[in-house]
Order: sequence, then structure tokens, then C-alpha cells
Amino acid sequence: MQVLAVTSEIFPLIKTGGLADVAGALPAALAAHGVQVRTLLPGYPAVLAALEAGEAVATLEVGSLVAGRAAGLDLLVLDAPWFFARPGNPYMDGGGADWPDNAQRFAALCGAAAAVAQGVIPGWQPGALHLHDWQAALTPAYLHYAARPHPATVLTVHNLAFQGWFPPAVLGPLGLPPDSFTIDGVEYNGGVGFLKAGLRFADRITTVSPTYAHEILAPEMGMGLDGLLRSRADQLDGILNGIDTTVWDPATDALIAARYDAGSLPKRARNTAALRARLDLAPSDGPLFGAITRLTWQKGSDLLSEAIPALLAAGGQLAVLGSGDAALEAALRDAAAAHPGQIAAWIGYDETLAHLIQAGADALLVPSRFEPCGLTQLCALRYGAVPVVARVGGLADTVDAATGFVFAPVSAAAFAAAIDAAAAAFRDAAGWRARQAAGMARDVSWAAPAGAYARLFAALMRPPR
Ligand code: ADP
Repeated sequence: MQVLAVTSEIFPLIKTGGLADVAGALPAALAAHGVQVRTLLPGYPAVLAALEAGEAVATLEVGSLVAGRAAGLDLLVLDAPWFFARPGNPYMDGGGADWPDNAQRFAALCGAAAAVAQGVIPGWQPGALHLHDWQAALTPAYLHYAARPHPATVLTVHNLAFQGWFPPAVLGPLGLPPDSFTIDGVEYNGGVGFLKAGLRFADRITTVSPTYAHEILAPEMGMGLDGLLRSRADQLDGILNGIDTTVWDPATDALIAARYDAGSLPKRARNTAALRARLDLAPSDGPLFGAITRLTWQKGSDLLSEAIPALLAAGGQLAVLGSGDAALEAALRDAAAAHPGQIAAWIGYDETLAHLIQAGADALLVPSRFEPCGLTQLCALRYGAVPVVARVGGLADTVDAATGFVFAPVSAAAFAAAIDAAAAAFRDAAGWRARQAAGMARDVSWAAPAGAYARLFAALMRPPR
């Protein structure tokens, strides 16, 4: 069974968030179920530089398709330097502004996906398409309006908040027919909606946890798309994300100070000491709380700052790794300056520090207001950092009272109470170890979710229509 995955980022080549982790880990996990995944992505400099034995396999109007391998992945790269040979982030310039031609850039990706689906590569055609997020979501619209036989499409929504909305003037330049600009087509709030188009035309829709799949059917978390999602509820599934348990394995992790497993938890203390030393935190017998996050309203980063007095009063320390909104970054920097040795804020992106926090923090804080799945709490379970999470989305599906602390509603007061409860529980060393061990015993791998995707693809395999 051959599947073409389409994504705008993939670990370890280019990553801004969990989407890259998922796109990078699913191919190997699906291979175990007999599904061969080839991944189409933009030819960013980092991707082209990593490509081994790249070979041009098709020429399109927007660029050429280069097939090759990198980091064990089977890739199809859309080489279009006028769109993708830019420094930094896939979506934004160095100043944090969206690239002005994002509609054209990701429409080119979707157009290329549609061309591959229709057989533009001699001798290779996928049996199904797996489209990730808005950047790939125009593909089913192109296939629909092309009105030619094509394989079935699955659209996976990693975050409904990112919708790919553009002004109506892009319709013609994107090669969409005038009659597509209706409520039953690609029109969305007076413009062109990439994610909306995908939700309308994909054969099946998935999102990354069962609870989020349910939450997005209601206005509160539906982000304006709940009506369309309700109309497609029969084709919507929630399949929980896993993590790559070879990348995230405390028994073999080269990025941490001391390796350990559930049977050697005392060794973990060396990572806690190394984390304190790295971040200039004072030695302490109290719990060291960690957080690894985009600093945004979604992630409850303001609640994190608000919780600091309660966290300190409970005898805790805090190590935050994150970047994002300037005001939220500043609030954490200020808190660190006001409480030297107790609060550390490392503003930026740092894969190595992320591993050390998972291996060294006693507990990991995830106070998200909404969370499609969340990966950091899965890593935390695997590393014995007890998760303290809001009861939303994938957090509610993956953490419970046996493995962590779950709070509701998502408010500063409820979060502070959960931190307090965790700090109190931490003083019972045996109970704490039992909680860590329970988390480490949970299966957070891709094995089960990949099986669910494989069944979904198998059900959709059909002669091209
Ligand atoms: P998101 O909504 O940002 O995709 P997820 O929890 O699904 O949230 O995935 C976030 C991923 O990015 C995790 O692998 C996490 O470890 C990583 N991450 C987030 N912020 C940072 C950072 N500042 N430095 C290193 N890794 C980070």
C-alpha cells in the first residue's frame, strides 16, 4: 500500500512544532503495518541540503519534483527556489511577519500533490493521500475541480486555529475556477480558506486525539469551522499521536546527563542536578517544574507566569524553555530576573535543553487552553517527568490521576491548585516514584496509532476515480 504524505515540515529536517514530529515519525511506524509512505514537502534550503541522491522525476509549472532520501525518509521535494529558498522559518520572515506569498507557496505544494496523485511521476502513483494541516489542504479542492480519477484523500488537522485564510483576489492566481468561490467550495469568510477547502473535499478527516475530535464540533473550540465539521462528523476520526520512542528514550538518550529507565529512577537525579546547573537554579529539595512550549495564549503561557507565586510558595522551582509572543516572553524573563536561582526562562528553541528538561524536571506543566494532542506530555510520561495538564483535548486523553495531575477549568486558580497538589505529592517519595513508573509504563509509541491510520488507508484504497 503506497501513501503520499504532504506536509510543510518534517523532523529532523525542518521543524517548528509537533506537526514535524508526526510527519517524521509516521512513515517508519506505518511501514510496520505494510504502508509505504513517500512524503512531499517544499524544497527549503535545509531539505535540499540533506537530500541524498536526489533525482528529478517530474517537471511542473511551479518547479520540479526531486525524489530522494534523507534521514531515512523517502522524500519528494518540490524544488521551487522562488518560493522556498529563503532563510529561517517556513512561514515567516525574520521579523515574524508571514511571507506575503504564502497562498502561492503552499498552493504550489498542493498543486504538486494533486499532480502526483494524478500520475505525473512515470511509474509511481499513490493509493491514498495523507494531507497535513492547511498547508496541504487545498489538494482535495484541486482534485475535485480537476474532475479526473484520483486516489482517496485523508486530511489530518493538527491545529484548527491555523486555517490558511487569504483574500479573494488569490482565487484566479491559484488556478481555482470562479465557480469554486462558494460556500460549498473554497470560499471562507469572504476569502479563500485552505483548511476549509480541505475539510469540505477530503474523503476522510482526522484530528490528533479523540477528545479534540469531539471538542471541535462545538462553537467554543470549532474556530468558525464547527458547522462544516458537524456536517462531516461521520467522516471525522480522532487518532492520538504517538512519539518517536527511539528519539525519546531515556535509556539511550545521548542529549541528557545520565541515562535511566523505570528500574533505575534514582539515576534520574543526575539529570535534575545537570538541569539546575545549566540554568543557574539553586540546589533544592523541592520539586523542579519544567515547561517546553510555544509561548502563546493557546498554550496558557500567561497562566504559567501567573502561577509563579503559587509555585514558589509551594517550594517549587521552574525551568521554562520556549519562544513566541513578545509580551509572554518578557513576562517570563521578568519573573526569572525577580527570582534568581528559582525561576529560569530560556527564550529560544533548543532541542538538547528540551531533552534535559524532560529527563531532569520532576514535573512538566502544560496549562493549554486547547490542545489538539500535545506531545510534550507524552515525552514527559516516557521520561518520568510527572505531567500537570489542563483537561482539554489530547491532554485529557493521555494523562490521568495515576500518572499525573489534571485540572479544570483552565484557570489560574485551578492551575495553582494542581501545582500545589503536585508539590505536596512530591514530598511522598515512594508515591512519587510510583506515579513516575506508572507514566513510564504507558505506551506512548506510534504502534497503536499507526495501526489506526493503516486501517483507515486500507478502507480507502480503491481504484482511482
Ligand atoms: P505544538 O502545538 O507547538 O505543535 P506539541 O506539543 O504538539 O505543540 O509539539 C511541540 C514540539 O515542539 C515538541 O516536540 C516539543 O518538545 C517541541 N518544542 C516546543 N518548543 C520548543 C523549544 N522552545 N525548544 C525545543 N523544542 C520545543
